[in-house]
Amino acid sequence: MRRFLVALLVTGMVGISDYHVYADADAPSTFPSSFFSQDSSDSNDFQFSNGGQRPNAERLRIPENTPTPLEGFRWKKKNITIYMETADPKLKWAFRDAVKKWNKTKAVHIRWTKNEDKANIIVADGDLARNNTGNNGVGYTTSELGSTRTEYDPTTNTLHKATSTLDPNQLDYTNKEFRSEVAQHELGHALGLAHAPEYEHSVMIPRNIKNGITKNDAKTLRTLYRE
Ligand SMILES: [Zn+2]
Repeated sequence: MRRFLVALLVTGMVGISDYHVYADADAPSTFPSSFFSQDSSDSNDFQFSNGGQRPNAERLRIPENTPTPLEGFRWKKKNITIYMETADPKLKWAFRDAVKKWNKTKAVHIRWTKNEDKANIIVADGDLARNNTGNNGVGYTTSELGSTRTEYDPTTNTLHKATSTLDPNQLDYTNKEFRSEVAQHELGHALGLAHAPEYEHSVMIPRNIKNGITKNDAKTLRTLYRE
C-alpha cells in the first residue's frame, strides 16, 4: 500500500482580519503560512484514474533557488487537465481567466476536460468560513477566500490530485480581476508553488494578493517544469 501525503493549503486571506488565528497549533512552525500536512489514514481506495499523469517510480527533480518558493512536488507532465465543478458564473470566469494566464507562461499546458474522473485539478466553490469558539467563551470567525488541497506522493514528488476552492460569499463583492488573482493564487498551489514572502513580487503572497502572475512566478514555474 502506498502512502500519500495530503497537504491542505489555506490561502488568500486578503483583507480578512486576523490571519494568525489560521495557523494550526500543530503546524510546523517553519512554514510561513497555515500550511499543514498529514498522512492520509488509508489510501487503499486511491486509484490512478488518469493515465496521462500516472506516476512512475522515478523521483521528479525539484529545482532549487527558484525566484519564488516551491512546495517540493509537481505534476509529472506539463499537460495537465482541469475540471470545472463550480456552476457559479463569477467563479467560472475567474478560474478560466486564471488558467489562461498560467498557460501564457508556457511552463505548463492546462486543458479543460468534461471528465471529472480524469481531471488532475478540480476547481470548485465552497463555504470556507470557520467558526471557532474557545473554551473561554470567546468566539471568532475567520474567512478564507480560497483554499487548495493537494495530494502527492512524497517518494516521487509527484502530484496526484489537486482541488482548488473559492468561496463565492467571500468574493461576491470583489471585482473580477481580483477574483481572477485569487484563482491564479490557488492554481499556483495546484501546480506546486508555495507561498512567497511579502517582499517578493509574486501572486503567491498569501495575505495581500495585489499582483497577478508575475515574471518571477512564470520563471519559477518554467524552472519547475523544465524537462
Ligand atoms: Zn495560498
